[in-house]
Amino acid sequence: MRQVIVAGNWKMNASKETVNTLVMGILAGMADVKSKVIVCAPAPYMSQVEALITHSQLNLGAQDLNVNASGAFTGEVSADMIKDFGAQYVIVGHSERRSLYGETDDVVAHKVQVALDNGLTPLFCIGETLDERESGNMENVVSLQIQAVIDLVGIEAFKNIIIAYEPVWAIGTGVTATPQQAQDAHAFIRSMLAQNNADIAQTCSILYGGSMNPGNATELLGCEDIDGGLIGGASLKSDDFLQICKAG
Ligand code: PEP
Repeated sequence: MRQVIVAGNWKMNASKETVNTLVMGILAGMADVKSKVIVCAPAPYMSQVEALITHSQLNLGAQDLNVNASGAFTGEVSADMIKDFGAQYVIVGHSERRSLYGETDDVVAHKVQVALDNGLTPLFCIGETLDERESGNMENVVSLQIQAVIDLVGIEAFKNIIIAYEPVWAIGTGVTATPQQAQDAHAFIRSMLAQNNADIAQTCSILYGGSMNPGNATELLGCEDIDGGLIGGASLKSDDFLQICKAG
């Protein structure tokens, strides 16, 4: 049985005050949460979150990493820096990184490799745009995104990778994939993993992301192949986020 995982992606939304309120609010409601819960904070706030979540069930993640270990890469964050703040997770290949910062499937695969090499668990994001879905290309796009990672790190590495299926048209739009659309995509992803290794396909967690909220979480998380959620907007309010964590 795959454990339900709920990860919050705060994106570029935080201040010292809101981080404090948000994390304290989540911690106050964690007692009856059975899911694994991860918060992915903006880099400048990771130290603050690390201090707040000590000895709790909350886990810390970063939102991106640079493939280099150190050096002249102004503004970038390395895997070692992420680990230095007690984080075990890192989002890789979020659609905003792909579309706004030109991250190709190959770049994303390289980042997955660097995360794994450094003992971080990548939350590896994949998903199609609206055009790609409407032209019948969802499976093709998602396959290429996954294949780039399999080609570089091998299928066995998926023991330590969490996949997040995030249809781009559902991210931050308030338009959620229907449970059937999401389940179909997740089943397709799992079948692709199974073609390479049946055991890995059964154990790999595949999260859904795209306007998940307290109103739709129970139905989405109830689908056979949906193992949790990557949550953007609704992860910024502790009550909403906790309701999603409890829905799993
Ligand atoms: C995301 O950014 O990964 C995401 C799923 O955002 P939202 O929940 O706001 O759609």
